[in-house]
Parts: sequence; structure tokens; C-alpha cells
Amino acid sequence: MIEKLTFRGIGLKRDSISKETIRRMAELLKSGATMLSMVCPKCKSPLYRLKTGEIICPNCGIRYYVVTEEERESDVLVQATLDQLERNVLKVISDINARIGEAIGDDVSSYGKSLSIWLDVLERIERIKRSIEGRRSTS
Ligand SMILES: [Zn+2]
Repeated sequence: MIEKLTFRGIGLKRDSISKETIRRMAELLKSGATMLSMVCPKCKSPLYRLKTGEIICPNCGIRYYVVTEEERESDVLVQATLDQLERNVLKVISDINARIGEAIGDDVSSYGKSLSIWLDVLERIERIKRSIEGRRSTS
């Protein structure tokens, strides 16, 4: 499934569909590339998938890469799992917090230790979430 097209860089100069472009299209087909049902968002020329898996616009020379539905799904799954984990960790922390007031002696330091562990977990969850979001916004 094609989800999103994002261009990686501009190769050739943009020009209207010319003899040169038609020649390039013919060459692409000869080299085993396949014409796709997607068009270039910039010039509306049909896109071609090279044998290497790269997707290219024969008209403006822009190379595209495809973000598949599966990749997005896995991101969503990770996000959902992290959200759930975060809620559970917050429950544990709030539980420890409630008991810490009544704790005495050795109990206090053991609660403190587990609190510090769970806060670390929480921090890691936040870090992973941020890195996923960062990846999304740069793609
Ligand atoms: Zn194009």
C-alpha cells in the first residue's frame, strides 16, 4: 500500500514532458523498471519503480521513497503500547506515592528505590515516544 510520497532530492532540472522525457521513460522500461499508477506530485508524470526499488519521476528526475502502510501500522502499535505502559507505570508510581506517607524506617528507602526505578522507566517511555515523533516529522 502506498501511503505517502516524500522526495529525497532533485536530480535533473524540471522541464515539461519533452522528447527527452519520453526517451527516458522508454529507457526506464527497457531497463526493467515498471510504470506505476501513481503520478509525480510536482509534474503529474507517471512514476517508475526501478529494479533497485527506487521510485523516480522520469520528467523532473526526482526520486521518491514510499512509506508503507505496514511501517505506519507498526509505529501506531508501538505508540499504543507505550501509552498503555505509561498509564500502568503512573498507576504504580501513584500507588507507591500513597504508601510512602505511611511507611517507616527501612520501608521508606525501599519505596524510594522502587520509585526511582519507575521514574526511570517513565523517562525512557517519554524518550522513545519523542524519538518516534521526531522520526515521523522528518519523514
Ligand atoms: Zn515529476
